[in-house]
Amino acid sequence: MASGRHHDRTTALLALPFGLLWLPALGAPGLVVASGGFLLGGLWLSPDLDTRSNATRRWGPLGLLWWPYRRLLSHRSLFSHSPVLGTGLRLAWLAGALLLLAGALAPLGGPPPQALVAAAGRLWQEQRPLLLTALAGLEASTWLHLLQDGDPVPHLPRRLRRRLRRRWR
Ligand SMILES: [Zn+2]
Repeated sequence: MASGRHHDRTTALLALPFGLLWLPALGAPGLVVASGGFLLGGLWLSPDLDTRSNATRRWGPLGLLWWPYRRLLSHRSLFSHSPVLGTGLRLAWLAGALLLLAGALAPLGGPPPQALVAAAGRLWQEQRPLLLTALAGLEASTWLHLLQDGDPVPHLPRRLRRRLRRRWR
C-alpha cells in the first residue's frame, strides 16, 4: 500500500500529462479541467477519505463533512476503494452534504438547495463535455490511487487479482 505522500506526489506529477490528453479535442479549457479534476480527485476527493489521511486534513474545518463517511466505511472498503463506485459515492456524499448545508443556511439568506440543483442542471446543459472531462479526471486519479495501493480492483476474487497485479507490474 502506498503512503499518503507517495499518492500526493504521483497525483501532482501526472495531472499535467493527463490534462494534455484532452488538449486536441477540447483545447486549453480541456487541459485545465482535466488536470484540475485529476488533482481534485487525488488530493481532496481521494479514496483515503475513509481514514485519517492527507486528503481529510486538506478539507480543514470542512473535514467534518467527511466524518460520518469515515465512520461508516472501513478503510479500503468496497465503497471507497472501487472504480466508479468509489468516486460516485464520494460525489454523491459531497452533493448531499452541500444540499443539507444550503438547506440549513437558506433561512440566513443563503441560496436555497433548489437553486444549487438548478445551477448544476444548467452547467450540465451548457458545459457537458467539460463536465464529463472533469469526471474523467476524478475517476482517473482514483484508478491511479488503486494501482498504487497495489490492488487495482481490491474486491475481485483473489486469484484474478493476483493475475492482474502480475500483468500491471
Ligand atoms: Zn487507499
